[in-house]
Amino acid sequence: MRPVQYNENSKVTVADLPEGVYQGEGFMATKLESVISLARANSLWPLPFATSCCGIEFMATMGANYDLARFGSERMGFTPRQCDMLLVAGTIAKKMAPILRQVYLQMAEPRWVIAIGACASSGGIFDSYPVLQGIDQVIPVDVYVPGCPPRPEGILDGVLKLQKIVKNESLRRRHSEQYKGLLNEYGIQ
Ligand code: SF4
Repeated sequence: MRPVQYNENSKVTVADLPEGVYQGEGFMATKLESVISLARANSLWPLPFATSCCGIEFMATMGANYDLARFGSERMGFTPRQCDMLLVAGTIAKKMAPILRQVYLQMAEPRWVIAIGACASSGGIFDSYPVLQGIDQVIPVDVYVPGCPPRPEGILDGVLKLQKIVKNESLRRRHSEQYKGLLNEYGIQ
């Protein structure tokens, strides 16, 4: 039987506090933006868009050994309207590209995308006419996870990298001209 571990004996820690403008015992003053970013980064809700072998690695990532729940992302939603982290794991055929794009469009802002594995990132070994050569041809991507397939540790690393991006993202970014320009490049209004 595995020994039960409690916080005081294990390496489980609480999320780092944002930098405080003024802090003391039991109180702190900080920016609203830092608190919102902290909450967002530690409660990313995944939407798995898994089409082939990389999807199996993602299943292992959700299992007890790797346990994505440790990072606040155990709550998978199989509806784009209740998720903010799109995980594309697998080969995406060109016929499937409009569907992937539709799923992305149905997610509310702020939304983030991780391309898991070589196929989602670049078409992988399938350098052929029916396969999309990277999902960034149809939707913007925040983090690329290399590998064919990436191990669950690689996927976890991708999620941690995304958490870092989310923690440091300005709340105004989504309203900026630069961001609107990025979406315009993809034909998204
Ligand atoms: S990257 Fe490799 S493991 Fe992942 S979907 Fe493509 S062929 Fe399968």
